[in-house]
Amino acid sequence: MTHSTMDCPVCESKHHSSVASKNGYEIHRCPDCGLLFIHPFPSPGELSDFYSNYHKSKQYGDKIASKIKRARKRIRSLGRSNGRTLLDVGCNLGFATEAGRSLGYRATGIDIDEDAVERAKVAFPECDFRPVSIDALAQGGEKFDTIYCSEVIEHLVDPLDFLKNIKSVMKNHGVLFMTTPDVGHYSLPKKIGKLVEWTTFRPPEHLLYFDRKSLGILFKKAGFHDVKFKFSFKPTLKVITSI
Ligand SMILES: [Zn+2]
Repeated sequence: MTHSTMDCPVCESKHHSSVASKNGYEIHRCPDCGLLFIHPFPSPGELSDFYSNYHKSKQYGDKIASKIKRARKRIRSLGRSNGRTLLDVGCNLGFATEAGRSLGYRATGIDIDEDAVERAKVAFPECDFRPVSIDALAQGGEKFDTIYCSEVIEHLVDPLDFLKNIKSVMKNHGVLFMTTPDVGHYSLPKKIGKLVEWTTFRPPEHLLYFDRKSLGILFKKAGFHDVKFKFSFKPTLKVITSI
C-alpha cells in the first residue's frame, strides 16, 4: 500500500518534511534521527515492476575479480574463518559469498532475486546459494557465525524488521559486517540541493539514506549494543557489530 503519510522508518517520528525531490519522488528528512528517505514509499507493485528487470538494467556482472577481492579484504578483517559459517545477505551474483568460501568459511548466500541466485550457483558451485528472504531463513532457525550484508538496507521498506531478522540468525558472539551509502560523509556537499545530485540518490531503487547517527539508532533499536563504524575514504558506512 502507498502511505499518504508514514512515520520515519528508523525512529517513528512524525515530524519529517520534504527537503528535496528527485526522479519524481519526494525526499524527506527526519529532524529526530537525521534519516533521509523517500516519502511516500513506492507501492509494492511499483517496486516489483522496478526489480523485475533489476540486474538486467545494472552492470552487476562487471569487474568480478575486483569485487571478490574487495569482499575478501573486508571479510578477512572480521577474524578467524576456519570451519566457521558465513551468510551473505542479499548476495546478488554471489561475489562476497565466494570471497568468504575462498577464505575458508562454509559460505551461504541468500537473495530474493531467483535469477541472480541461479547465476550465482553456476558461477560459484562450491557455495550454498538459496533464493530466500532473511525472514524466511530466520523462521528456519539456522544460525551463522559471520554475516555479510553489503548495499542492501538502503533498498528496504522495513529496515528494523530486516535487522531483527539478521540478529536472529546470528550465533552467540557472531559478527555482522554491513555497508550502506553514507550521506553524512565528509567528502559530500552539506546543502541538500547539492547532496541529492549524488548518484546514490536514485529512487525508487534507494529508499533510505543513512548517516552514522540514523544507522546507529536503527542498530540500537534492533538490539545491537556495540556498534562500530570503520573509517572509510569513500562515502560508505561500514558497520561492524556482534551479539
Ligand atoms: Zn527518524
